[in-house]
Amino acid sequence: MPSEFSGKHVTVAGLGVSGVPAAKVLHGLGAHVTVVNDGADERARTQAAELEALGVTVRLGDGTASDSGSAAGLPEGTELIVTAPGWKPTKPLFTAAEQAGVPVWGDVELAWRLRGHGGRKAAPWLAVTGTNGKTTTVQMLASILEAAGLRTAAVGNIGVSLLDAVTGDTEYDVLAVELSSYQLHWAPSLRAHSAVVLNLAADHLDWHGSMEAYAADKGRVYEGNQVACVYNVADRATEDLVRAADVEEGCRAVGFTLGTPGPSQLGVVEGLLVDRAFVEDRHKNAQELAEVSDVNPPAPHNIANALAAAALARAYGVPAAAVRDGLRAFTPDAHRIAHVADVDGVAYVDDSKATNTHAAEASLAAYESIVWIAGGLAKGATFDELVAGAAKRLRGAVLIGADRALIREALARHAPEVPVVDLDRTDTGAMPQAVQEARRLAEHGDTVLLAPACASMDMFTNYNKRGDAFAEAVRELGA
Ligand code: ADP
Repeated sequence: MPSEFSGKHVTVAGLGVSGVPAAKVLHGLGAHVTVVNDGADERARTQAAELEALGVTVRLGDGTASDSGSAAGLPEGTELIVTAPGWKPTKPLFTAAEQAGVPVWGDVELAWRLRGHGGRKAAPWLAVTGTNGKTTTVQMLASILEAAGLRTAAVGNIGVSLLDAVTGDTEYDVLAVELSSYQLHWAPSLRAHSAVVLNLAADHLDWHGSMEAYAADKGRVYEGNQVACVYNVADRATEDLVRAADVEEGCRAVGFTLGTPGPSQLGVVEGLLVDRAFVEDRHKNAQELAEVSDVNPPAPHNIANALAAAALARAYGVPAAAVRDGLRAFTPDAHRIAHVADVDGVAYVDDSKATNTHAAEASLAAYESIVWIAGGLAKGATFDELVAGAAKRLRGAVLIGADRALIREALARHAPEVPVVDLDRTDTGAMPQAVQEARRLAEHGDTVLLAPACASMDMFTNYNKRGDAFAEAVRELGA
């Protein structure tokens, strides 16, 4: 079938999770596709061979995609670039595209444009972004939508890819879409039904160049919203982004709060999640949605995620009972404040996914008395605010990883009374030792919390492996 891509010369920038499917889809739509990729390792060569067998041109490591000024320029005749979301906007390839007036789309933009292609139903998107809590929130949202009997999926960085969701055989009524700041940067025409920015803390600033640029990219999620822009009452920056957005006539700003909700907000009253936004006469009425104990686990930041998910679902018209049923049916992904075991009256909790200080701050706020296992790669972060905020709840700290000295110094400044064990090793044996040291520091009723506030790659392949090592070491304690 002819499409707007038939005969078009498209350059796909980057192989990998988004580039390979994008190249295939575009090729299938009749485009002349050239893929450029900086590296030429074995994985890249395998992917290239697969695409070349289909008739796609692939250029590996010829400089077109490099970060330096030695770029070979735009491939001949390029009319559109579809880039991997993680590629920095400062690459010479993009400068060349801008000079030549060639548009640059990310994988999300491509997926957005392909909605409804081939006569499929174009399912509306409920979009979730923010520094932390995105995956959890989209999964809660999908669970709620499912409980309402809707055909849906959690898509984006998780589960089904966006491109598959919009071009595959399964038809959806509505999609719960997780979007990163990179993806939003490259998605200029995205218009969600409703969207939320969960929170905004400094992250990925090396990519975006500044906090303002990062916030602006996150804020794009609100552009053109039709029904609701959902913001975090406790995070003023998210509300500012709503104000700055250009939305459809009649679209509402809806807040979520862990406190008592005002009109046009969802919040918490006496152990209940309540809605004062999507009810008749919101100045007088409130609708009970669920009990706090329906949220799994009911840590404060997770209740916030549940409220955000509920707000998007309610914006879509989902009844209150489905919010409750969906939250009850939801189980969090591994390594997100996962309770591993109780040993000698001490709880061991794996929040290996707390890879930045903002996430660790949320998990430290969820427990009263904590032996904290932290450290890894700091990615330029500072720890003073985090440590100062958590100091009174720390029974002790065990530090691991390459940048542990930064945390040790922050502890010395803001929590000098707290005993600290500094493990001077970065081999895989460090985790069992850390867990044993934590056990020694912990007292009955305490929580030993792995919330590293750092990336894991100095010691582990990824945060999953770090969490697995922790859980394994805890099980050995109990054995
Ligand atoms: P993301 O997809 O944005 O990385 P996840 O849902 O995977 O978010 O959660 C990542 C980590 O962020 C969790 O392990 C937890 O430590 C923290 N977190 C989750 N929700 C929130 C929130 N609303 N505010 C702050 N931190 C959060």
